[in-house]
Amino acid sequence: MTELSAPQELPGWTHTYSGKVRDLYVPADGDERFLLVVASNRVSAFDHVLEPPIPGKGALLTALSNWWFSRIQLPNHLAGEGAPEVPEAVADRAVVSKRLEMFPVECVVRGALTGSGFAEYERTGAVCGIDLPAGLQDGDLLDTPIYTPAYKAPLGEHDENITYEQSVELVGEKVASALRNASLKIFTEARELAAERGIVLADTKFEFGRDPESGELVLADEVLTSDSSRYWDADRFFDAGLTAKQRMSSFDKQIVRNWLSANWDRTGEPPALPDEIVTQTYERYLELYRRLTGQEPPFAPLAPSSL
Ligand code: ATP
Ligand code: MG
Repeated sequence: MTELSAPQELPGWTHTYSGKVRDLYVPADGDERFLLVVASNRVSAFDHVLEPPIPGKGALLTALSNWWFSRIQLPNHLAGEGAPEVPEAVADRAVVSKRLEMFPVECVVRGALTGSGFAEYERTGAVCGIDLPAGLQDGDLLDTPIYTPAYKAPLGEHDENITYEQSVELVGEKVASALRNASLKIFTEARELAAERGIVLADTKFEFGRDPESGELVLADEVLTSDSSRYWDADRFFDAGLTAKQRMSSFDKQIVRNWLSANWDRTGEPPALPDEIVTQTYERYLELYRRLTGQEPPFAPLAPSSL
C-alpha cells in the first residue's frame, strides 16, 4: 500500500478512509446516513499514488461527475434536502452523499478494446468470459459495448477481472443483472452524447450501492470522469494516417500512464512526474470538461503559476 499523507481536518466531519484518490469522512455527530466524498488532487497509475499531485484535478473531476449525475436518469448517491453542508475548505471538490452498502463489483463497460481488456484478449481471445472476434487490434471499437466486471478487492489488494457468472455469485442474480443493465444503458447514452461533442468514450467504470433505507439500487462513487474512463479525441481517433497510439490521444490519465511506461520499469517507487506532464494532464482534463459540457468549470480558473 502506498502511504498517504494525513488528510485534512474538516469541522463537523471525521475522517474514516482514504483511497488512492478520494478521502471519505462521516458526520462527527454519528449520523450514519451521510458521507463526505472529497476528491484530492492525487493521481494514481499502475496502483501507485504519484508525486506531485495535479493542482485543480479534484475540483475538475468533481464538477464533471456532478454534471454527468445531473444527466443520468437513475437514482444517484448525491444527498439532497436535510443533509449536512459541504465544508467551505473543500467546497469545490467534495460532495455529501448518502452512505450506501457498496456492492463489491466494479461495473466496467468497454466500447473499445485497450488496456487490461486488450491484454486479456491477446492472451485468451476473450474478456471476462466474453469471446470476441479474432484479429482485433489495440484500440479497436467494439460493435456492441461489453460489460466486463471486476471484483473490487479489499483495501490494498488488486481488483480482478471476473465473469458475469462470478458477479452473480458475489451479489446474486437479481442485483448482478440490474448492475449489468444499468451500466450498459448509462454507457450507451453517454457514448452518444460524447460522440456529438467530438469525443470517443472508450470505456468506463461505475460503482453502485444499496440504499439501506429504501433498498434501492443507487449509482455512487464518481461517474464518467477522466479517472474512471478513457476518453479519446474523435478527430484523431478516426484519422487513419496516425499510429494506434497517436489515435488514442487521450483526455484521461493515459497521459500519466504513457509517461510512466516510458520512464519507469515498474519496480520500486515511481519517479516524480515532470512539470510539463502535470500541466498537460490538467489541461487535457479541463479541455474534456469544456468539450463535454460546453461550459467553463464552476470554480475560479487556476493561475498558470500554480500549475
Ligand atoms: P483505490 O485506491 O483502489 O481507488 P478506492 O476505490 O477504495 O481504492 P477511492 O476511489 O479513492 O478509493 O475512494 C472512494 C471510495 O468510496 C470507494 O471505495 C467507493 O467504493 C466508496 N464510495 C463511493 N461512494 C460511496 C457511497 N455513496 N457510499 C459508500 N461508499 C462509497
Ligand atoms: Mg475508486
